[in-house]
Amino acid sequence: MDRLFHTATEQEIKSGEITDVYFIRDKKILEAKGIRKQVLGETVAHGLPQSWPWAVFAGVEEVAHLYENVDVDVDTLDEGTLFKAEDVVLTVGGIYTDFAVYETAMLGLICQASGIATRAAKCKLAAGERQVISFGARRMHPALSPMIERNAYIGGCDGVAVTKSAELIGIQPSGTMPHALILVFEDQVAAFKAFDEVIDPSVKRVALIDTFEDEKFGALTAIRALGDHLYAVRLDTPASRRGNFLKIMQEVRWELDLRGFKNVKIFASGGLDDEKIAHLNEYADAYGVGTYISSAPVVDFSFDLIQVSGKPFAKRGKMSGAKQLWRCERCLTSELTPKDEKPAEPCICGGEWVAMLKPLVRAGKIVRDLPTAKEIREYVLYQLGQLKKIL
Ligand SMILES: [Zn+2]
Repeated sequence: MDRLFHTATEQEIKSGEITDVYFIRDKKILEAKGIRKQVLGETVAHGLPQSWPWAVFAGVEEVAHLYENVDVDVDTLDEGTLFKAEDVVLTVGGIYTDFAVYETAMLGLICQASGIATRAAKCKLAAGERQVISFGARRMHPALSPMIERNAYIGGCDGVAVTKSAELIGIQPSGTMPHALILVFEDQVAAFKAFDEVIDPSVKRVALIDTFEDEKFGALTAIRALGDHLYAVRLDTPASRRGNFLKIMQEVRWELDLRGFKNVKIFASGGLDDEKIAHLNEYADAYGVGTYISSAPVVDFSFDLIQVSGKPFAKRGKMSGAKQLWRCERCLTSELTPKDEKPAEPCICGGEWVAMLKPLVRAGKIVRDLPTAKEIREYVLYQLGQLKKIL
């Protein structure tokens, strides 16, 4: 055993060891026969999970690092771009045997990242101005936590729970208090008061109110314990007790308001998804979303050669030749054209076509500024705003 955890090292990924064996054989045969052909391949999802109408393209920064110092040219959409099934999102060009072994890793980087970012974007779109915090790192291998939470964040989550993930993104981690704190104190009031005494005042006081009693009375207990220090109450009501979650929140809101605590917010968590968020928006002010985001379905991207020795050439079922993806910035409609052409007509909405596939790597050098997670998130939120205008 040469490792404690069953994960690949950065070096193993970078050196092409995380590859399907058929690429190794592929390369061996072509090298034995002295075949070094210039090819171009493209990455497309021919369908999206669960018939999603759109998805968020993510994983670009890692793809740039994967291909850095590999003698290839890579073009991609900007990280965070909303795309649809059949949109070309990434192309790789070079001598086939120089980069064949990286296909497995490249697809893995974008398929999972894009799925997570998309689920986060769906939650944020449903929540609107209300905060969405990523709570689901615990459902996945801990080695993946920074990747999962970065993509949850760029997809639109306002915060992430895991400390190392937040540090790598460059934000403060978000969280409330675990049920365990209250159980170990064996008393809610003592636990709430101790939290308030010990934890830095910059951390918002969010009381978890479903450990022992009904949420409505739990909210009153939280007021008693924390008074004006109380920022929010969190309802993580177990499924077996939930009944009508919206109605429970409505009662909590009523009781808080009646006692002059209109500014105390209601934070919901536990098995949430975008549909449940839309349903709870009337009374909830913030959400913690776990498994729904961290275990997002992967986007089923595939990589296919579409040009060999400079000539359009592709397998059955694939359109050959280099292409450009154009998008109308106003209505987000997209259109594919041969690489050096532009759509003949303006978009029917009157908007301008913008070329979306742009150089990322040239001869192994990263040639594009890699935006921060915060900048990518803002780009996603901007597009979600555009989507809202169309819907
Ligand atoms: Zn348009």
